Amino acid sequence: MKYLLVLAVVLVAFYIWRTNRERAWEEAVAKESQRHAAKPRHPGQPAPPAQMVVCHHCGLHLPRAESVEGSLGHYCSPEHRRLSDS
Ligand SMILES: [Zn+2]
Repeated sequence: MKYLLVLAVVLVAFYIWRTNRERAWEEAVAKESQRHAAKPRHPGQPAPPAQMVVCHHCGLHLPRAESVEGSLGHYCSPEHRRLSDS
């Protein structure tokens, strides 16, 4: 009778452990799918990476759109273009 009680306790403990594990797994899966659903997606429209150029005079890296073009390359400012090109 004593062993039956021990067996019953072990079975109940195993049942609780298994239930908790399944619940944790389901929560993890739900969280993962929410994360994927919340992530904004723009297929076919990836953000274009800004092309970086290096100032020919001082070596500063800057986006090409903000650079000043000279005969020897790109510059961070008209002042540096004047100093290097002349
Ligand atoms: Zn510069």
